[in-house]
Amino acid sequence: MFLTDSIMDLKGVGEQTIKKFNKIGIELIEDLVEHYPREYEDRRQITKIAEMVMEEDNNIVVTVASKPEIMKKGYKIIVKFRVKDDTGSIYVVFYGQPYMKNNFVMGETYNFYGKVKRQYNRIEMESPEYEKVEVGGGKTAKITPIYPTTQKLSQKVIRQLIEQALSLVLPEIQDPFPETFRAQYDLKSKTFALTNIHFPSQDEDFFEARKRLVFEELFFLQLSLFVLKSDFLARTKGCSKPLPESFKDFLAALPFEFTGAQKRVMNEIAKDLKSAYAGNRLVQGDVGSGKTVIAAASLFIAIKNGYQGALMAPTEVLAKQHFEFLEEVFQNFDVKVALLTGSTTAKEKRELLAGLKENQIDLIVGTHALIEDNVEIPRLGLVITDEQHRFGVRQRLKLSEKGETPDVIVMTATPIPRTLALILYGDMDISIIDELPPGRQPIKTNAVDSSYHARIYQFIDRHIREGRQCYIICPMVEENEKQSELKSVTEYAVYLKEQVFPHFEVGILHGKMKPKEKNQVMEAFAKGDIHVLVSTTVVEVGVNVPNATVMMIENAERFGLAQLHQLRGRVGRGKHQSYCVLVSDSKNKVTKKRLKIMEESTDGFVIADTDLKLRGPGDFFGTKQHGLPEMKIANLYTDAKVLKVAQQAAADLLKQDPDLSQPRHQALKVKLMHYTEGEKMHKAL
Ligand code: ADP
Ligand code: MG
Repeated sequence: MFLTDSIMDLKGVGEQTIKKFNKIGIELIEDLVEHYPREYEDRRQITKIAEMVMEEDNNIVVTVASKPEIMKKGYKIIVKFRVKDDTGSIYVVFYGQPYMKNNFVMGETYNFYGKVKRQYNRIEMESPEYEKVEVGGGKTAKITPIYPTTQKLSQKVIRQLIEQALSLVLPEIQDPFPETFRAQYDLKSKTFALTNIHFPSQDEDFFEARKRLVFEELFFLQLSLFVLKSDFLARTKGCSKPLPESFKDFLAALPFEFTGAQKRVMNEIAKDLKSAYAGNRLVQGDVGSGKTVIAAASLFIAIKNGYQGALMAPTEVLAKQHFEFLEEVFQNFDVKVALLTGSTTAKEKRELLAGLKENQIDLIVGTHALIEDNVEIPRLGLVITDEQHRFGVRQRLKLSEKGETPDVIVMTATPIPRTLALILYGDMDISIIDELPPGRQPIKTNAVDSSYHARIYQFIDRHIREGRQCYIICPMVEENEKQSELKSVTEYAVYLKEQVFPHFEVGILHGKMKPKEKNQVMEAFAKGDIHVLVSTTVVEVGVNVPNATVMMIENAERFGLAQLHQLRGRVGRGKHQSYCVLVSDSKNKVTKKRLKIMEESTDGFVIADTDLKLRGPGDFFGTKQHGLPEMKIANLYTDAKVLKVAQQAAADLLKQDPDLSQPRHQALKVKLMHYTEGEKMHKAL
């Protein structure tokens, strides 16, 4: 049997069971054997009945001492029987499973594992896991894997099926890592790893198995990223774009001077642009650190060298804002800028596409509308994408492919810890703007519960009277039965408009609105026509309204800290003191700790790092928007060291055998193709 066979080929699996497995994403043997345990229970110790601990799981080996009987207990049907060992006897009870009656024979020996409780004057073990102990012992006492599951698939079924699958598939398995490779990185064989990740007989074997599998997972992730990128990077050299003479004038015309960090990053980019190779750089900078003007200056250099530039933003609102900013800074420098989004009319678009094609337009700003096939940018020399974690690698590449190996700059405000940046941006160079423009006052943040609402509304009222503006953020768009306690934006906005701020303009912004409507609202807010903007996280990215100084975030526990930090970055962008109020009624300790971090720090990196430690990377960016690959076994944070080694190993391998044509790399190549073509890659990218 092979890893790519269906689990339908296993013995003893009915249609119903298959369906349940499919529901948790398991279709192939491979999925099954890679369904790794969530945890392990150490059942190597057998407890005597006399020594059991009440209200806890106990592991006993006992003989059935009474015939199993079906009884009624209240409305429930139970199966009950007595079991004993040489120190005493207890009852075993199964609820709602009458067929259990036939699974136990008086006088036979079984291993039971479950919680025991005192019931009046006797002791019961409820719905335990069990296994028959064959005459002569057998292997009952062991480390038992516990699998992630839905309630309807029992641990026992999963365990037995995995056992069966392993026994059939292991003899056929081809280790993608040749022996020399395993020796070099001190890794166990695939067969050993799969056996021992599921059924380790001692702790050491588990650690070795995990080490191998974590390495393998991270290795293939890195390898596939390299291959994907080199495909695109290897085509031709880039073009040299030295600093134009007018660059000094451009800088002088800006209303401010670059910060030290901006200067450093600008130098790094200028070097990329001047080099004959296509640069590929990630610019990280906390919210408000001034990335946009760096983008403008970079584009200026490319354009004055006779190339076209493209700037892609994740939302229309943001694209429009960038467009307006760029038009302004380029106004005396003879740069033709255009905007292309989903709202561009057909007529405008036709003209625009023609202009781009004939190199009449120097700079195109837009949303992912830019990557459509009919957009031709023949002289494209620099591609900048803003707030990158919203775009996939594929999208980024697609835009780049329109030009003659343009330089690529990716800007992100998400303070990605270095370990994760390594994965997300594989072989990119990284520049960090680690300094805010002068004169900014740190945002004052408070975490409170909902009993503070009246006071917060008053606070907002006062600030608006002083001429400022305010954001109120809620997590949801629609009323949802289950989460009816969550403030739904639309309803909440109506309430605020009618009851709380009748004397002010209250605007509303959410993801279900048409881009055009969103733009109108955002523009009105930017102009100061709207005082209170009630919004979902659509304002999260990049929007710049310096006059907004108060942000209140409802149900703050719903957001990842990185996301809260992003949101909070919408205030504190001007000269006035700004405030952020996080409202949450959560009593959860970790939640409270997380909100506390927000009170204590305004440093995105500190926040991200702490959050990662508290919650793990899956949750780090909030719900599913993060674009981080889903890992089966590796933990991107705690396995950072392995990640580094695996990345180097992948790079070395490609240096040694660039197209993986050596015979000993065939199994590895097969696995890589499987990985890059399969769904996994789409998830990863
Ligand atoms: P972000 O990094 O969040 O994209 P922006 O580029 O939007 O930040 O910049 C935030 C604000 O700071 C803008 O209003 C911008 O004009 C201003 N800014 C940028 N660089 C400087 C600087 N060196 N000195 C003063 N203000 C600056
Ligand atoms: Mg920005």
